[in-house]
Amino acid sequence: MANVNVAVDRIKTLAATLEEVGFVGEIETDLALRAAMSTDNSVYQIKPDLVVAPRNAADLVRLLDVIDQPPFADVAITARGGGTGTNGQSLNTGVIVDLRRHMNGLIAIDEREGWADVQPGMVLDDLNEQIRETGWFFAPETSTSTRCTIGGMVSTDASGKGSRIYGKTSDNILGLEIARPQGLLDSKQPVPQWARAMLHSAETVARQGKVAFVANTPRLNRRFTGYDLERACADDGRFEWWRLFLGAEGTLGIISAIRVKLRRIEREKRLIVAGFEDFRLALASAAPLIKADPTAVEVMDETVQAIAEDAGILNRLPVTLRAGAGQKVAYVFIELNGDDPAHLQVKLDDCRRILGSLAGVGAIHVASDRAEIAELWAIRSAGVGLLGKVDGPARPIAFVEDAVVPPENLPAFVDEFLDILRDNGLGFGIYGHVDVGCLHIRPALNVDKAEDRARMVAVSDAVFALTRKHGGIFWGEHGKGLRGAYLRDWIGAEAYSALQGIKAAFDPEGRFNPGKLVTNKVPIMGIATTPFRAFNEPEGDPLTLAFRCNGNAQCLSYTKTTPMCPSFKATADIRYSPKGRADALRTWHKARREADADLPVLEKDLMATLDKCLGCKACASSCPVQVDVPTMRQAFMADYFKRHRRPLADRLVMMAERFSPAMMRLVPLLAPIWPMASKIGGWLTASEDLPRRMARPPQGLHLREEDLRPGHLPDNTVIIAQDWFTALFDGAVQRQAIAGFTALGYDVRFLPMRPGGKVALSLGETAGFRRMADALSSQLHAAATTSLPIIAVEPAFAMMLRQDYAKAGIALPHVFLPQEFLAVEADRREFPKANHDSPIKLLSHCTEATALPQTGVLWKRVFAAMGLETTTPSTGCCGMAGLFGHQRRHQPMSRRLFDLSWRSHVESEDTIAATGYSCRCQAKRFSGTQPNHPLGLIADLLSR
Ligand SMILES: Cc1cc2nc3c(=O)[nH]c(=O)nc-3n(C[C@H](O)[C@H](O)[C@H](O)COP(=O)(O)OP(=O)(O)OC[C@H]3O[C@@H](n4cnc5c(N)ncnc54)[C@H](O)[C@@H]3O)c2cc1C
Ligand code: SF4
Ligand code: SF4
Repeated sequence: MANVNVAVDRIKTLAATLEEVGFVGEIETDLALRAAMSTDNSVYQIKPDLVVAPRNAADLVRLLDVIDQPPFADVAITARGGGTGTNGQSLNTGVIVDLRRHMNGLIAIDEREGWADVQPGMVLDDLNEQIRETGWFFAPETSTSTRCTIGGMVSTDASGKGSRIYGKTSDNILGLEIARPQGLLDSKQPVPQWARAMLHSAETVARQGKVAFVANTPRLNRRFTGYDLERACADDGRFEWWRLFLGAEGTLGIISAIRVKLRRIEREKRLIVAGFEDFRLALASAAPLIKADPTAVEVMDETVQAIAEDAGILNRLPVTLRAGAGQKVAYVFIELNGDDPAHLQVKLDDCRRILGSLAGVGAIHVASDRAEIAELWAIRSAGVGLLGKVDGPARPIAFVEDAVVPPENLPAFVDEFLDILRDNGLGFGIYGHVDVGCLHIRPALNVDKAEDRARMVAVSDAVFALTRKHGGIFWGEHGKGLRGAYLRDWIGAEAYSALQGIKAAFDPEGRFNPGKLVTNKVPIMGIATTPFRAFNEPEGDPLTLAFRCNGNAQCLSYTKTTPMCPSFKATADIRYSPKGRADALRTWHKARREADADLPVLEKDLMATLDKCLGCKACASSCPVQVDVPTMRQAFMADYFKRHRRPLADRLVMMAERFSPAMMRLVPLLAPIWPMASKIGGWLTASEDLPRRMARPPQGLHLREEDLRPGHLPDNTVIIAQDWFTALFDGAVQRQAIAGFTALGYDVRFLPMRPGGKVALSLGETAGFRRMADALSSQLHAAATTSLPIIAVEPAFAMMLRQDYAKAGIALPHVFLPQEFLAVEADRREFPKANHDSPIKLLSHCTEATALPQTGVLWKRVFAAMGLETTTPSTGCCGMAGLFGHQRRHQPMSRRLFDLSWRSHVESEDTIAATGYSCRCQAKRFSGTQPNHPLGLIADLLSR
């Protein structure tokens, strides 16, 4: 039965039986993975007993066949795609089937007829990227397109911007294949004998229940789906069983393949952004604007505008659209797509005319350049994204966030909706798709508190009633999840009984995602009776951020060229993502406090997930709530290693960092024996490709005591601060830094190297870190008395000084990155000109790219001052990340990450430079060519 965990012995037997029958994918009871699978973007948490990741459809059949056996007759089975559900859709006890990990490919595409067959775990953007060249695309657009899967979209009937024209997912599906214990049932093939009785029984109840179903479902563009009896019983008399699965949220079975209908990519695009003095007037624009037949009309209220304004996001808007001081603006975004520019112009003129006739319209901006349009949409999403980043214990949550009413009823509906929220004393921000009457409102609550849970139920009931009153649908976009508890009431007893008949036909024992949507044998899960996940930890707890992770899954992006999160990208395994790690850390926090019996196993599993974290810190910058996994890992390690002995490899690396100044002094003695020492070090620490040569420290360039006297060094001196690893082993970058700065007219001095404590910090040796950090801090403060610029050439080191030192409360003088210093200098004085006729390709270190998003722009300014053109392609992590990429156990992941987004750049004919030491090493060992540091490239180009 749902919500009841299965005895450990039976799960073990189930796992063993799966292995016996040749299940090829992973079968796992790992506690960190189960923690990661126990949450989505909702407020709920349900821990599964087993997670399986099938390799293919045959594996799914094996799984279902085993689970159908009598000993496992009551084990629940629930499919999971991207896990981006907002209402607990994919959470359950029993077995969770992870379709995202392996079953995520394109099976076939027919470019003539315009369809594609995909595996259910394929990510929406991945599909559209893979087929872009063909001129086709899959139209339903979710804001989670970087991480939600087609299987999840089909099962929640997802939609988004443009749905008035393109429809919901259910309007864009041509057929399904589902897995059953007996085999695969494909809607495009003749029905096999074993499936006939099942389909016959479904057809009988569907036909019986159709009239009551139709009578109770409003005739809206965003139609009601999930067990859609109306469409399954087609007007021409056919019975299309597979249509029952669209929006069924895995409660009828598991989809193993999907045929999607494709649409032609339209050649032309326009976007109008209009400012309104009042949100209600902005809402009222929807009904008249629809007459111009736009592709999409979206709104953003004054609250979102104000938050975005405060965060500086709206600085990127055209000046005319900006609000004046103290002024508030609601924005309407109107998108128009088509192939014929003349036709589009007519629509555009219609929209302008309509806008001109409406009350409250302020500035209007029209964009026709695709890049500008993308930027304007990005500004809107960034503003909306900030709604989730709220300080304090009450935070916006999803439970009434996607109601749909006829667009003409929207203003009245919203007035009453806001009354409900005000009556309950709740804060909110609003945005949404007004052309289809769908608004997104997430009231802020603290679900740790019983009174807020009661308010959640009160608001939910009231909004449900209000939506009905206005002829709408309570679940207009995000699916039902636990809000399926309202379904019986909404659809009426007769139609619900037909839905129960459908459930009984496909799932007689109630095994698939039990307790959701439609049930026969088990109670329906309630919106307030299902376990809530812990929401808050007292401020100041080192794991606070793990509690603030809201599961929006931005960190589960498949995109190869964005930095977050490399370990997830390389594995497609949620436990190796910031979200997964936050979930596991929260679970550990509770287990540790309560001295749970599972603690030793949990710690082993947690350690394994943290071990695969590259420490790149992309999560600390790119996650909307800055879930900083490396910092939390330090806290965990510090606690854990108070109770356990550290591994030898960790101790050796920590010692190397600590004694690096001594090693530095002994370079002349150590250098001849270093090749052998490095081999032994590699063997002891199970590492590969450790540096075989030591760097010869630059002669006569170290800052001396007397140099600290004001005016002792020339004004054009730059002081370089180095981390211990590059100081000891990267002679090339030292030479390149000297040559680059010298070529640009500077004198260079090096601070005597002091380790920053990065290794100690990352391994949770906080006392050691503090000692090293204090010493380095004193040294930097002393250097700052010269008033000369201090520059860290290695981005990972510079970012550590900025991020980790600040977190540890250590104030430092400003330490520049070279591009920050040189970009300002380039405005101040003339740089020598270089002669090079092709653009420079600059590849940034991922930590730098996420923490300092303008890094590429700064380098462009520097190179432009020398008359050089620069491109700054986006890349993910190179896979090295300090010692990570050297550790033998991480070799496959490290290489895979390099292949994802670095190899093609490094192996191209372009002139490239890479800012990070790790990235340059990685390029050398996997491609055989070592790019220069940009300063090296500058020296090289200026010397030609
Ligand atoms: C920040 C945010 C923004 C969102 N914006 C939108 C939006 O713009 N539009 C929108 O429609 N939704 C939106 N959503 C909701 C969510 O992204 C969609 O519902 C999405 O379609 C879910 O896909 P998924 O792969 O994550 O599915 P999951 O959450 O993993 O699963 C969803 C349901 O589908 C079932 N399922 C998954 N795969 C299968 C399968 N192979 N066979 C049978 N059942 C299966 C699961 O059991 C579950 O019930 C948003 C969510 C978030 C967090
Ligand atoms: S870690 Fe950040 S990006 Fe990932 S799910 Fe949590 S809040 Fe979202
Ligand atoms: S530090 Fe990097 S690898 Fe680790 S969780 Fe964050 S984004 Fe992922």
